[in-house]
Amino acid sequence: LGPTVTVGEILVEIMATTVGAGFREPQALTGPYPSGAPAIFIDQVARMGGAAGIVASVGNDDFGRLNVDRLRQDGVDVSAIAVSEDWPTGSAFVRYRPDGARDFVFNIARSAAGQVGLTPAAKDLIGRAGHVHVMGTALSIPGAREVILYAIETVRARGGSISFDPNLRKELLTDDGALDSFNQVLGAADLLLPSGEELFTAAGLNDEAEAVASLLESGIGEIVLKRGEQGASFFGRDRQRIDCVAFAVTEVDPTGAGDCFGAAYLTCRRKGMTPDAALLHANAAGARNVTRLGPMEGVSTLAELAVFIAETRRR
Ligand code: ADP
Repeated sequence: LGPTVTVGEILVEIMATTVGAGFREPQALTGPYPSGAPAIFIDQVARMGGAAGIVASVGNDDFGRLNVDRLRQDGVDVSAIAVSEDWPTGSAFVRYRPDGARDFVFNIARSAAGQVGLTPAAKDLIGRAGHVHVMGTALSIPGAREVILYAIETVRARGGSISFDPNLRKELLTDDGALDSFNQVLGAADLLLPSGEELFTAAGLNDEAEAVASLLESGIGEIVLKRGEQGASFFGRDRQRIDCVAFAVTEVDPTGAGDCFGAAYLTCRRKGMTPDAALLHANAAGARNVTRLGPMEGVSTLAELAVFIAETRRR
C-alpha cells in the first residue's frame, strides 16, 4: 500500500562511558552517534528492506548531516526531513546506573527536533504512506503531535494501519498535550508495542492479563510486550499468546533495542510473516542491537538476522 512512515526527533547521542558516573563531574564521553527513537526505528525498517520514510527536522550542521547521511545510505526516504537554518540538531546525553536504568538529558524542544511540522514534503510523504508508526517520545513535540494526528487520519482513510510504541521517558512527560495525544494514538492503534510497565500505563490496570484483555477488547488487534532480557510475548485476538525466550547475548548498550525490535516485528508482519516468525525476528533484532555501542549501530538486515538466529543460543 505504501511505505512505513514515522514522525519525530532525530538526535545525536552522547554517552557516559563509566557506569554509575553522573553528568555533574568531568568524565570520558563517547559519541556522537545517530539517534532519536523514531530515527532508529525507521532505519531498522529500511535495513530490512521495508519501504520507509520519516518526517523530522535537523539543523544545518554536522550532527544533522551525520544522521541524514546514515538514514539515506540505509534506504530511508529523507525527503521530509527539514533542515533548519535557525536551530541546531537535537541531542541526548545518556548515563547508566549500576542497576541498568538510564537517565537522559535531552535537548529537543529548543532544537531543530522541536520544530517538526506539517510541511509540504511531510504531506507528500504521508499521502503515499501505507502505515504510520508512532513513537511516544515524539508526542512531547507539539508540532510532531499535529503531524502524527494528521498522518493517522490520512493513512486510515487510505486503508493503511497504525502501530504505537509508548516509549515513555520520564524526562519528556512534561505537558498535558502529550497525555491527550497518547490516548488518541492508543485509540487508533492496530498494533501496540509496550515495554514492561508501559502496558499497565496504557491500560490503566496493574495486572498483565487484565491489561492485555482490556486493550484487546478496546480494539487493538495485536499487542507485543517487550521484556528486555526476558524476551517478549505476543497477544492476539481469540486469546492467542506466544512467548519468545530472549537470545543469550552480552549487553553492551541497551539503547535502541526496543526501537529495533518494533521495526523488525512490524516489517516482518508487513512482509506477510506470521506473528510467530515476526516475534522471533524481533527478538533477534533487539538482542543483536544491544551487543553494539551506539543506539543505531546494531541495526540488522534480514540476512544478518537469519545468521544471528541460526548461531545464537537462547537464554
Ligand atoms: P525497550 O528498549 O523499549 O525498553 P526492551 O529493553 O524490552 O525494550 O528490549 C526490546 C527487546 O530487545 C526485548 O524484548 C528483547 O527481545 C531484546 N533485548 C533487549 N535487551 C536484551 C538482552 N539483554 N538480551 C537479549 N535480548 C534483549
